[in-house]
Amino acid sequence: MASKITSKTAMELEDKYGAHNYHPLPVVLAKGLGALVWDAEGKEYYDFLSAYSAVNQGHCHPKIISALKEQAEILTLTSRAFYNNVLGEYEQYITEYFGYDKVLPMNTGAEADETALKLARKWAYEKKGIPENQAKIIVCANNFHGRTITIISMSTDPDAYKGFGPFTPGFITVPYNNLDALKRELEDPNVAAFLVEPIQGEAGVFVPDEGFLKNAYDACKAKNVLFIADEVQTGIARTGKLLACDHEGVKPDILILGKALSGGVLPVSAVLANDDIMLVIKPGEHGSTFGGNPLAAKVAIAALEVVKNEKLAERAEYLGQIFRTAIRSIDSDMIESVRGKGLLNAVIINPKNGKEAWDVCLKMAENGVLAKPTHGHIIRFAPPLVISEEQLRDAIERIKKSILSF
Ligand code: PLP
Repeated sequence: MASKITSKTAMELEDKYGAHNYHPLPVVLAKGLGALVWDAEGKEYYDFLSAYSAVNQGHCHPKIISALKEQAEILTLTSRAFYNNVLGEYEQYITEYFGYDKVLPMNTGAEADETALKLARKWAYEKKGIPENQAKIIVCANNFHGRTITIISMSTDPDAYKGFGPFTPGFITVPYNNLDALKRELEDPNVAAFLVEPIQGEAGVFVPDEGFLKNAYDACKAKNVLFIADEVQTGIARTGKLLACDHEGVKPDILILGKALSGGVLPVSAVLANDDIMLVIKPGEHGSTFGGNPLAAKVAIAALEVVKNEKLAERAEYLGQIFRTAIRSIDSDMIESVRGKGLLNAVIINPKNGKEAWDVCLKMAENGVLAKPTHGHIIRFAPPLVISEEQLRDAIERIKKSILSF
């Protein structure tokens, strides 16, 4: 069903009344179901972005929407000034699901990252014995953890930080996927934690060398440094395992989740850790009005159930192999390389006759596949994990047709 506002009007309204902090593809979406979305005029597309991997369970998954509707008519928000009768059930469910003692519920990915940083600093002073205000956290070049002032203080991307100083101190940057550089910095006794994306999503789906995560984890353990995994984008079945860290059998000391934790229905994020870390934060020291609200709690339980019941990790692994093999076999000098894990993949584009990744994305949209360039020449492909093999193969044909048209 097409919406009343035309795509043209919708874009004009956003341009006139909205801040210009995004540069979207000129497509106006009005409806979604599973792996498909429709624009305001009713044109159908495969969604190969999944709202940056938030919609792993597919658009408007009936089980998640049903949980949302049911709870929305009962109780939506209490704040944490009082208990609510859903949060405890959710906390038990998610901690057992991921194997941690405790969870701290937040809303957005950035907030969960901020929470992890606060936890690590407090742990450093109370448990590790680092002198007050001296704690350092090691981060990786080209990271993406969100948009707050502290998070952009960790960024090496001028688009993210330029013009927004002064910045939060206390971070050390090492190149991604460089164990020696990490080990050198770990010699500093004031290092509290190492924060890492198991695969760098926004940077362009950089998959580290096999063994890097495990070796980095072991190096952190040897120095009593917390290993913090930001699995906001890689987590929850996207890369072919429940967590990307599972590929190397690494259990982070602090695990950060967001996005697909709600199947893209509400902003729901979480930080998981065991008691020795989580309990350093005491009442009044951290929180959020919406974090842990009963609506989000019910939605997150449903979203996590869908991941298990529909074996989405296994699907991502299986379909990801098909995707990479098929795209690698396209005979075009515009494709420099294809990389990724599960259904988090990227194609690196060689510009041709002045045509770049952006033009490829416009052509793909014309042919019914939506994806977006990240960092100029890289296109990320991350469809909802519920996409069927038939749909995936159809989408691959459309991608192929688009690339070969140049
Ligand atoms: N961390 C990672 C790895 C992300 O990819 C993102 C968003 O893309 C975030 C954190 C920030 O999440 P949010 O946009 O919900 O604040």
